[in-house]
Amino acid sequence: MSRTAATRVEETLDVVNPATGELITTVPATSEQDVARAAERAYEVFADGAWAGRSPRERATVLLRLADLMECDAGTLARLDCEDAGKPITECRTGDVPAAIESIRWFAEAADKVFGRLAPTGHDSLGLVSREPVGVAAAILPWNYPLAMAAWKVGPALAAGNSLLLKPAEATPRSTLRLAALAAEAGLPDGVLTVLTGHGTVTGAALGRDPLVRALSFTGSTATGRRVLAGAAASNFKRVCLEMGGKSPQILMPDALEYGDELIGHMIEAAFLTMGQNCTAGSRVLVHHGIAEEVLERFTAAARQLTVGDPADPRTRVGPLISRAAFDRVAGAVDAARSAGAHIHTGGLPHGLPAYGAYYPPTVVSRAPADSDVLTKELFGPVVTVQTFTSEEEAVRLANATEYGLAASVWTRDLDTAFRLARGVEAGVVSINSYSEGDITTPFGGWKQSGFGGAEKSTDAFAQWTRQKTVWIRTR
Ligand code: NAD
Repeated sequence: MSRTAATRVEETLDVVNPATGELITTVPATSEQDVARAAERAYEVFADGAWAGRSPRERATVLLRLADLMECDAGTLARLDCEDAGKPITECRTGDVPAAIESIRWFAEAADKVFGRLAPTGHDSLGLVSREPVGVAAAILPWNYPLAMAAWKVGPALAAGNSLLLKPAEATPRSTLRLAALAAEAGLPDGVLTVLTGHGTVTGAALGRDPLVRALSFTGSTATGRRVLAGAAASNFKRVCLEMGGKSPQILMPDALEYGDELIGHMIEAAFLTMGQNCTAGSRVLVHHGIAEEVLERFTAAARQLTVGDPADPRTRVGPLISRAAFDRVAGAVDAARSAGAHIHTGGLPHGLPAYGAYYPPTVVSRAPADSDVLTKELFGPVVTVQTFTSEEEAVRLANATEYGLAASVWTRDLDTAFRLARGVEAGVVSINSYSEGDITTPFGGWKQSGFGGAEKSTDAFAQWTRQKTVWIRTR
């Protein structure tokens, strides 16, 4: 796990099941020298055209084969993320793995469908504007959506013709390694996709500083993103794209309860998916005071119904947190809020769970002081705060009272109100009458300290993995 790995540097990394404590395997902890060698190899492969030199259609064929192989291997891929990250197996099967396959397939299909431009010049010249691969690209991944985040990067990076160095999080390397093995089976030339397992402070930092890496896509915490950006500035000014944390609001206007159980279902999913260890977790409910009591009652009752337990059991909705340190952070913040006068509607330690595993129950908090960590920090756990407002302006002010700006939702039947709120909220993705990040066709990314905005998914993602070239031709 990245937080503990930062304090020790060894030659191998233990992969431990957070639900059982079982040592699953060990993987290499790639050194700075190994990273440099992998980058050189990736550059050679790029330069010799084994992948970049193929037509986009040929690249698409290999990536489509990869998507088919992932489909056949879906059960294993789901199990690997469940065991490594403690994610409920049903979430992995129905969410992460299908999303990853879709991403590879969608970007494969897009490979030969994105055109360059012809500038509106005079008759004596032609201005051709094209997008070219960057060459050697790198991606650094978080542990909460191991395969899905890998696929968001691999799809567009490889479709564009790059060689890609992929660094999974310490805790969750196996689905990424499996993805690379399937890519080789699909016919991807050797050296085009290289997985570098290792510590963030060594392997990740080396990628950030490597002079051959021209673009680096980082998904992880805001604190690490800051270091990655500094590494790029101190080395070759590689293009860095940052996708980081969030503290996303769910805004419920006075008529929101007209959506009934659908509203409560979305709120629960937004708050507790992956135990709240989700960058877009809707961890702050902002509700109009007129419906607050009923919303709190129904939301709390639904949160109590969630099955907490063994993530390998298909009935489980809430598994363990990734680590004891994560548990301490979450529990500490809730305890501090309680001591400062907050009301805990549901929470507390559950009984009858497996002895091992950092289980923390779905927790609903109201009346938290404005400066408390539960309201201001990304807790990355199953904790939701509830605040009330009396006017639209107050709702927007509360929604924007955070350094993050990743996602938000707005619930109302009134379209004018919905659009006004969507415009007023500082977030990269705002969903109306649902809690959604959109689908693969829509750009995804955060504002403010959540990231650079809209750089993942959709054809916009190619901007991350390509550089623009103008060819000017004088004609006679
Ligand atoms: P983290 O920042 O601890 O680690 C992310 C990755 O960075 C890991 O692979 C880690 O090894 C590596 N790393 C650590 N130190 C590094 C360094 N000095 N240089 C380079 N790389 C380094 O984050 P995490 O705990 O793995 O993931 C959780 C975070 O990710 C949360 O903040 C969450 O919101 C965010 N996240 C964001 C998105 C998004 O799309 N915006 C998606 C998923 C997760």
